[in-house]
Amino acid sequence: MSRRIPHWIDGEPADVRDRRVAPVYDPATGVPTGEVVLAEPGDVDRAVSSAAAAFPAWRDLSIARRQAVLFRFRELLEQRKGELAEIITSEHGKVLADALGEIARGQEVLEFALGFAEVLKGDYSVNASSGVDVYSFRQPIGVAAVISPFNFPAMVPLWFLPVALAAGNAVVLKPSEKDPSASLWMAQLLAEAGLPAGVFTVVNGDRVAVDALLEHPGIASVSFVGSTPIARHIYETAARHGKRVQALGGAKNHMLVLPDADLDLVADAAVNAGFGSAGERCMAISVIVAVEPVADELLGKIAERMAGLRIGDGRRGCEMGPLITREHRDRVSGYIDTAAADGAVVVVDGRGVVVDGEPGGFWLGPTLLDRVPTTSAAYTDEIFGPVLSIVRVDSYEEGVSLINTGAFGNGTAIFTNDGGAARRFQYEIEVGMIGINVPIPVPVAYHSFGGWKASAFGDTKAYGRQGFHFFTREKAVTARWLDPSHGGINLGFPQNA
Ligand code: NAD
Repeated sequence: MSRRIPHWIDGEPADVRDRRVAPVYDPATGVPTGEVVLAEPGDVDRAVSSAAAAFPAWRDLSIARRQAVLFRFRELLEQRKGELAEIITSEHGKVLADALGEIARGQEVLEFALGFAEVLKGDYSVNASSGVDVYSFRQPIGVAAVISPFNFPAMVPLWFLPVALAAGNAVVLKPSEKDPSASLWMAQLLAEAGLPAGVFTVVNGDRVAVDALLEHPGIASVSFVGSTPIARHIYETAARHGKRVQALGGAKNHMLVLPDADLDLVADAAVNAGFGSAGERCMAISVIVAVEPVADELLGKIAERMAGLRIGDGRRGCEMGPLITREHRDRVSGYIDTAAADGAVVVVDGRGVVVDGEPGGFWLGPTLLDRVPTTSAAYTDEIFGPVLSIVRVDSYEEGVSLINTGAFGNGTAIFTNDGGAARRFQYEIEVGMIGINVPIPVPVAYHSFGGWKASAFGDTKAYGRQGFHFFTREKAVTARWLDPSHGGINLGFPQNA
């Protein structure tokens, strides 16, 4: 375990010898492959100071020059994304094709952000009052902190990084300590693309580093993605310290299946959305709400497809890899025990799965549960693993009411051929991102990403126009060029004429 994973400060790797470290595993073998340095508040201060020092020159660079750097980054990423995918698979465990998929979705945000000049164009009103023009424009906010989860080590940082940088901010990223190397690779690539030292910083660490960022006076904003309890903590603490915050949390996504749906399409979608990335996606489908009488037939079609899945090492052409850690695997597996104890039927049991991989890997096979009681923790909690639950209901109304009663509101999907029902669903459902015959409705880069209720704290979503809004603040200028006819003393409130 000799590989040390450092920070990235002032445009180069930065290690601090006597700090705490955490092991980083290859989840497909269960073997530690390195140790990541965990920052103390002093290290965070150094990182933020370096970013703050780099910020003014980056902000003052012309639009054309900032664009050129990001264009080069986009080109380098396109050429070398295979390297990044291998890093993701080796630390996260998702299969290579899936790692390339997350890079592609991150790249889309980068490509959208390259058009920032158009998005950030200001407004101008001529002659708002006699001889007076009013205009507004947006400026960067300063040093933006981004705190990311383990499950998308490239895509989630790329939801924020390109937008924040294009708008002229400096960024300090605190990636997940479970798979930190993707961030360092991107930092190196940004440096090769010509990003000045200090404009992008990676500080590795755990809650000590996060709390130091939340309290640091040099941080202007916090963008967080992770579990709901931590998102709530981030939102409250960062707001108390006067920062702009967007904190995206956990999820429990339901797929409502109406009796008229094409059940082969539904079964394909459920397997893809339930077991892709071993269910470790915030937009994964976790619960199928089957409006009777379709449950039995659907269950058979899903189980049949599950039997054909290849589980194993993501570098061996398998379809589903391991979970992120042994502890997380055991926790997810515990939910299968809980569901069974609470009366659910375990239709396909992923415990004891046979895999194409090393025995020490953090394996759990795809699992299908039927008749899961909605009082069971297996239904109410976010499981974040390859466990798909079926809940049977008797009507559309019962299904919608069940989904709306849940604590989370990240994503949902309806499967039906009835346009009227789908239209009603998109209006009535209390969820931020909705799919109509689309199981994982992650919005494209020029819309914005974010859930409702316990899935997001703050009122600005990630990327799209809302992303630019979050990373900039507006100024309004009221200007009159000297005109002697408007002289004289008047203590009344200015009125437009
Ligand atoms: P997590 O909440 O454990 O960790 C997220 C980040 O917070 C990491 O950088 C971690 O180091 C830090 N952190 C952990 N504990 C902390 C503490 N006590 N104080 C301060 N910081 C702390 O989440 P995770 O396990 O890395 O990721 C999985 C979770 O992320 C799931 O709940 C998933 O739904 C969620 N997620 C949500 C979205 C979304 O868009 N809503 C996207 C991806 C993942």
